Amino acid sequence: MFIILFYNPTRLKPANFSSEPEDASLRRSAKPVICYPPESLPELNLQNLKNARENLEQVTEKYIPPREAECFEVEAGHFFRIYSHQGPQVGDLNLWSKANPEEKFYTGKTRALHGTHLSTGDRLWSCFPFLRPMACITHDSLDWYGFDEDGASVHDVIGTRCDPYTAKLLSGTDYHHCCHSNLIRAFSEAQGVSYEEAEPYVHDVLNVFMCTGFTQDTHQYFMKASPVRPGDYIEFFAEIDLLCGLSACPGGDCSEEHSSDQAQCYPLRVEILRPQKSFVEEWVPPNPSSYNRLHQDPDG
Ligand SMILES: [Zn+2]
Repeated sequence: MFIILFYNPTRLKPANFSSEPEDASLRRSAKPVICYPPESLPELNLQNLKNARENLEQVTEKYIPPREAECFEVEAGHFFRIYSHQGPQVGDLNLWSKANPEEKFYTGKTRALHGTHLSTGDRLWSCFPFLRPMACITHDSLDWYGFDEDGASVHDVIGTRCDPYTAKLLSGTDYHHCCHSNLIRAFSEAQGVSYEEAEPYVHDVLNVFMCTGFTQDTHQYFMKASPVRPGDYIEFFAEIDLLCGLSACPGGDCSEEHSSDQAQCYPLRVEILRPQKSFVEEWVPPNPSSYNRLHQDPDG
């Protein structure tokens, strides 16, 4: 009873015993300011991409088996799609620059720039010191979903990726088909490096088709059954030459659990598509950040 009385359900922490200052409500009433107004980002000609996607020709397709990951390359100026196939299934996506895999997708900055969940028109940005758009989302058949009554939406950049370390911490078991391990094996095979060498390249993901949010009372990360159905897809435009890694998460539709063999899982289908030759030839990939990297004024 004591615990319940002194328990703050909104924070999952013991109640804060510091007394509120007299001007607490005034301090809380400060106006939110958008940290990074998207209109100040380098412009992308979406109409140009819309026109280009009217005439796409399939270059190749591949299937990602359940509880496995595979890598595939996409040339700058091309498109790729991730399809739900046979049943609802969530995918964990990593992106690297093909020329230099040290340049990888940066979910934290992408989230700060575009919000917790991505859809058409949002871009996937690379890590420092590069910080440039690697890809842009050009179609999302789940964009109708929006945000539901639980505050959930699809394609988040708020989760990390299921991994064997957290699974071990929580359940005490060694499970090898978490997205983290799947992506390590896929990257290792694609780049001809050991698992140990591959591991630092695997990073937080775009949770493709996953339906997630933060609970409104305790602000905890939650998942619910993905609304994706076979035939649904999300389409990306590769702004630079990409190496992509995609894992068909062991959580399946993530309606109950992940990091185990319990959930029903399905393959994911990937299509790589080429627009008209003239469009590809004219596409100019964005440059890495031009920040001078001195990190201090030249005079001291
Ligand atoms: Zn996963």
